[in-house]
Amino acid sequence: MNQTTVVDAAFESQRAHKPSRVSCTVDFGADGKQFGYMTVPHSRDDSAWGSIQIPIIAIKNATGPTILFTAGSHGDEYEGPIALMNLARALDPAGLAGRVILVPTLNLPAIRTATRLSPIDGRNMNRVFPGSRDGTVTEVIADYVHRTLVPLADVVVDLHSGGKTLSFVPSAVMHYLDDPGLMDRTAAALKDFGAPIGLILRELDTQGMLDTAVEEMGKIFISTELGGSGTSTARSVAVAERGIRNMLHHFAILPGAPVPPEATGEPPTRMMATPEAECFTICADAGILEMAVDLGTEVKAGDLIGRVHFFEEPARAPVPYHAKISGMLLSRHMPGLIQRGDCLAVIATDLA
Ligand code: CA
Repeated sequence: MNQTTVVDAAFESQRAHKPSRVSCTVDFGADGKQFGYMTVPHSRDDSAWGSIQIPIIAIKNATGPTILFTAGSHGDEYEGPIALMNLARALDPAGLAGRVILVPTLNLPAIRTATRLSPIDGRNMNRVFPGSRDGTVTEVIADYVHRTLVPLADVVVDLHSGGKTLSFVPSAVMHYLDDPGLMDRTAAALKDFGAPIGLILRELDTQGMLDTAVEEMGKIFISTELGGSGTSTARSVAVAERGIRNMLHHFAILPGAPVPPEATGEPPTRMMATPEAECFTICADAGILEMAVDLGTEVKAGDLIGRVHFFEEPARAPVPYHAKISGMLLSRHMPGLIQRGDCLAVIATDLA
């Protein structure tokens, strides 16, 4: 153990023994339904002893597993908050065997401003895990989730969509995991979510994600990419609502079997993956994006997927972007303007 490790270990031990700065009005051990708040201290110019109050709902009955649903980690994604608020009001505790904890608007300050990042500290909620009790507001919230809510849960479902700058074919998502048992159990839940796409994702950057923090605790973690463009649609909300109820059926917190898409005349869940870097097309130009194919289109390697136009130099030919692999256009950059370094498109391939 070197000097740095000793110092880190001492710091970690000290951190672990200081309580979270978040207080919560919900009693997680109580039966029934409780609508409460997590109170995060936030002293500021317009509120000296002020706080941020993040809604949290706990619904518990009998014995069974605990499922934690979170949404609104990014403030410009809407299917998750809508579906979780609807579920919180609709669920009858008497019908449950277990506990459901719902946080529909985890990054409440970002929800208020419809921004991906917190307007208070500029942090990305899904890049600050495990968080810090002594950190910024976003880090303090993440610390509470990591040390209090996740340990209560057997499974965590974190609902995302593409936000203002991406749009997806509605997908339930898991990651490639090193533990084969956990991978199998997670894949079974992913399939039962019943989204149009069940996606096994290779993240571009996993640092600070809730996903990684939960997976490292050996718990099942399911995420989603339900739509995007900074809004929601009737279809994307319907996929979210069916999916979260299916998770309650899958983990036997609600009786009955999950409802597959086929039950409503839709195609079965298509299991896909983004196993390699070639799935992601990153833009190297700034300009107006012209898509050549729309979401859900099957493409072959070499097909034109889009072009970037130089609107201040109309004589200059647009730069073409071609599919690097064959598959389906799962996600695209959404605003009309694109910059160098933006994700232009994601192509997914069918699972073998
Ligand atoms: Ca997101």
